[in-house]
Amino acid sequence: QGGENNEGGYAYYSEEMNRNTLDLLRIETGLLHAFEYNELLLYYQPKIDFAQGHITGAEALVRWQHPERGLLAPGDFIPIAEETGLIVQLSDWVLEAACAQARQWKEAGLEPIRIAINVTAREFTRSLPDRVRAALSRHQLTGEWLELEITESMLMHSTDRVISIMEKVCLLGVTISLDDFGTGYSSLSYLKRFPINTLKIDRSFTTGIPGDTNDCAIASAIIGIAKQLRHKVIAEGVENMAQFNFLKEAGCNELQGYLFSRPVPAADFHLMLTEGRKFSAVV
Ligand code: C2E
Ligand code: MG
Ligand code: MG
Ligand code: MG
Repeated sequence: QGGENNEGGYAYYSEEMNRNTLDLLRIETGLLHAFEYNELLLYYQPKIDFAQGHITGAEALVRWQHPERGLLAPGDFIPIAEETGLIVQLSDWVLEAACAQARQWKEAGLEPIRIAINVTAREFTRSLPDRVRAALSRHQLTGEWLELEITESMLMHSTDRVISIMEKVCLLGVTISLDDFGTGYSSLSYLKRFPINTLKIDRSFTTGIPGDTNDCAIASAIIGIAKQLRHKVIAEGVENMAQFNFLKEAGCNELQGYLFSRPVPAADFHLMLTEGRKFSAVV
C-alpha cells in the first residue's frame, strides 16, 4: 500500500490520487496491449422467454483475458476505457466481434438470433447507424442478428438527433432495448417518442423480488408501462424461482439471469442453441 512503486519508473507517490493515476495508466497501457494481442473476448448470456422457456437471443458481454490478472469483468476496465477515450476503440471491437461471431453461427446453419451489444453514450455522437450498417454488410448479416442496448441517459439530450439516429438503426432491422431501466432520470413522457423495442428491468429491482414490496411494485409498474407502450419487457438478474414466478405472473416477457445461465463463451452458447436447450421449469 502506498509508498514506493516496486514496478519502477515512478519513484515516489503517496497520495490516493497518484495511486489511481498509476492504476489508470497501467490499465490504459494494458488495454492497448489487449487490442494488439487479442486479449478481449465476448461472453454470451442467453435471454429466455417466459412462455416457452426458449432461448430468444443473448447479450454479448465483454471480458478481458489479462495476461497476469486472469479474466477481468467489464467493471474492471470499462470505466477506465471511458475516461481515456479508449471506449471508442473498444466499442468498435465489440460490434465487429459480435458480428463476426454471428456470421459464424449463420454459416453453421443457425436461424437468426439477436445478439445484443451494449452501446455507450459516447457512441451516439458518432455515426452509429453507418457503423452498424457497415458491420452487418461486412459479415453479410441482416439486422435480425443484432440488438443495441442503450441506457436512459442517452435519451436525455438533443432528443430529435437521438431519435433520428435510432430510427436509422431500426430501418436496418436492428432492435433497441433500454438497459438498466428505472435507474436513470429519463422522463416517462420521453419513452413514447423513441423507437424502442424492449425495456430491461434493472437487476437492482429484480434482486428484491418477492420480499421487497417496493421492488415488486416498481417491477410491476415497468411491466405495465411496457405493455401500454407495446414494448417487450425483460428482467435482468433473475437468480431464483421466486423471482421467476413473480415476474411471469406479472406478465414479463423474457428473463436473463443466473437462474438459466451465466454469461458463457461463444462455443457454450452455440451448444445451447444446437441442443435446443430450454428452461425446464417452464411448462
Ligand atoms: P449490463 O448491460 O446491465 O449487463 C448485465 C450484467 O449483469 C452483466 O455483468 C451480467 O454478467 C450480470 N448478470 C447477469 N445475470 C445476473 C444474475 O442473475 N445475477 C447477477 N448478480 N448478475 C447478473 P457484466 O458482464 O459484469 O457487465 C457489467 C456491465 O458492463 C454491463 O451491465 C454493461 O453495462 C457493461 N458492459 C458489458 N459489456 C460491455 C460492452 O461490450 N460495452 C460496453 N460499453 N459496456 C459493456
Ligand atoms: Mg446490457
Ligand atoms: Mg442491464
Ligand atoms: Mg444492469
